[in-house]
Amino acid sequence: MSLTGSGRLDRGAGLEVGRPVVSHPLQCQCGTIKAVVADPGNSNHCVCYCRDCQAFAHFLGKVDAVLDERGGSEIIQVLPRNLTFTQGIESLACMRLTEKGLLRWYAACCNTPIGNTLATPKLSFIGLVHNCLENNAPPLNDSFGPVRAWVNTNGAKGDPKPKVAGQGPVIWWFLTKVLKARFNGDYKRTPLFRADTGMPIVTPRILSSTEHSGVMNAVRAATG
Ligand SMILES: [Zn+2]
Ligand SMILES: [Zn+2]
Repeated sequence: MSLTGSGRLDRGAGLEVGRPVVSHPLQCQCGTIKAVVADPGNSNHCVCYCRDCQAFAHFLGKVDAVLDERGGSEIIQVLPRNLTFTQGIESLACMRLTEKGLLRWYAACCNTPIGNTLATPKLSFIGLVHNCLENNAPPLNDSFGPVRAWVNTNGAKGDPKPKVAGQGPVIWWFLTKVLKARFNGDYKRTPLFRADTGMPIVTPRILSSTEHSGVMNAVRAATG
């Protein structure tokens, strides 16, 4: 029994012989959606200041909870095969800021952001948004290590902008983990896309141009 795949987690699966029992709980604010992140050390802890991540927080009505004082979102990139939902996956919702935007997953029950993926499972990563990893959970740094990268700092609030740092480790993580998953077929092991069609398990809602300008205006107003 493995901890991965799209099925339910068999309780005790983490006790499999020879496998270190290390995982980090994921939970939406109201507790409807629960998941575990296996192998949390195999991750990339970063802060993204891009306007689109800020727009997602505005869309959810969670600006204060999601964004730091400079408008940054703390993100933990993990391999989707390490993410296993244990309850409430039917409450997952998905949106895109634009037709070509990232798939942004969130809990429909309480608007907790869950994470961001590309529209295809082939590049195998999900950038989990910190909020869903902080409910009844150990400190993020204990599980995932400290923040190693600060990216898209041009989108940060105020001046001077935070320095871009740590892109090297991000790219290295991407090359070694994400591309490896692409070539060894591991990318197919994801709870967020259908194995047969490669389509997301939820049809993403794409913002209308009016909705899009609404959230982007809110970002501009907040960021200055
Ligand atoms: Zn919820
Ligand atoms: Zn971003």
